[in-house]
Amino acid sequence: MIILKDGLVVTGDGVTLYEKASVLIRDNEILGVVERLDPSIEAYADEVVDCTGKAIMPGMINQHQHGVTFGPIFASGMINYGKDRIMELLDRNFLQGCTTVLNVDGFVTMDEVNETQKHHPMRIKTATTHAPINYEAGLRCDGKGLTEKHKTMTIEKMLADGAVCIGEVGGGHTLGGGGQDYLYIPKAVKEAKGVDIDYLQARTLKLGVLGRYIEESYYDKDTVAAALKEAKLDHILTPEETRDLVYKTTLASVKVAIDGYMEAAHIAKRLDVPLLCHNAPTSKKVIHEVAKVGLNNFVACHSNYLFTKDEAVENTKILKQNSGVIIEACTHDPWGAKRLVANPENLYAFYEEDLIDVVSTDFANGSFDSMLEAVQHGVEKGLVSLPKAIAQCTKNVTEAIPLLAPNLGQLKEGYTADVLVTSYPNFSNVERIYIDGKLVAKDGKKLV
Ligand SMILES: [Zn+2]
Repeated sequence: MIILKDGLVVTGDGVTLYEKASVLIRDNEILGVVERLDPSIEAYADEVVDCTGKAIMPGMINQHQHGVTFGPIFASGMINYGKDRIMELLDRNFLQGCTTVLNVDGFVTMDEVNETQKHHPMRIKTATTHAPINYEAGLRCDGKGLTEKHKTMTIEKMLADGAVCIGEVGGGHTLGGGGQDYLYIPKAVKEAKGVDIDYLQARTLKLGVLGRYIEESYYDKDTVAAALKEAKLDHILTPEETRDLVYKTTLASVKVAIDGYMEAAHIAKRLDVPLLCHNAPTSKKVIHEVAKVGLNNFVACHSNYLFTKDEAVENTKILKQNSGVIIEACTHDPWGAKRLVANPENLYAFYEEDLIDVVSTDFANGSFDSMLEAVQHGVEKGLVSLPKAIAQCTKNVTEAIPLLAPNLGQLKEGYTADVLVTSYPNFSNVERIYIDGKLVAKDGKKLV
């Protein structure tokens, strides 16, 4: 038996917090949480860890991550980053306190997930998007990581073999995001005119033709003429040429990707499994259609991302009126790298307005900040209570995707002992990680 003694204990149920209590672990199970430890019990323990001045909580369950298996990545089915980088990304999740991670690169096979699991102590689970229109969207955008075994795989088979939900449907690449800016539009301009343009110019053209919501009906010749002028390309391209080029590089795959949402929604409804969809301005309209399909668990992913603050808050309030909708807020990288998301104001607004069901990190180009960092800032600013913020990373996640982490997410008698000991009040400094009752990391170092 291990006793984590006299720490501040957050059980993960969303309400319970003990200022001073001890967590008892026997084999791989939580034996109990006790406020007053009987000294005679201590005598039976194999190890007593003094947790005075520290916090004890369930392991984080990160339900939105990319690049953490040996399979193809993103909704575009790109070739993965290679084993070393994958291991780095797994370690980053793990040492941030994640004891379970959900891979949302939905074209991976179970063989690839199982192979990855052999190399890492963190629990690695997967989602699936193996459906015809979603394949088509991936292929139109990239698809270079998709081999025959990926293309012939089905959602049904993946679920039978251990996938826990459908997702992530849609993504920046297939929905006219960054890939168009730095790759596809510059390539098309080079081919058509022999001119090199940068990603900012490409983005200006894209938004000039399709607008922020990537809509065909947005086109207006004068608007595009102004965009060409702004990008200093008015002597190179006409508005009509620009329209055709942007339609071809961007709109074509976006249309297919949007159709992929409804395809996945109908499969999720038929099989009654949770569905995770990329929620961004480009997919806003279809997200609301999916929300009306009547799924029991529909996760609107990173709902705090890419929208302006007011837009995100308003959009989320409307989405929440549909039953079965689960609002996911993501950390991204506003405290560390600040490359993808410059500041956490959307996340803070979500805490403040009580819009969050579950928190995850998302990918942020591999620079994602930790879920516990979000918790820490949210609590410090008085926007959310500590028990509630922890439950958004633990118990709520187990309810959103029931097969992701059964019997996990709470410090409760009979639950599996995935437990963290962290600094207090700097929760994001994870000192000890237990999985299945075994110490697997200490002071920022993986032990197995
Ligand atoms: Zn996404």
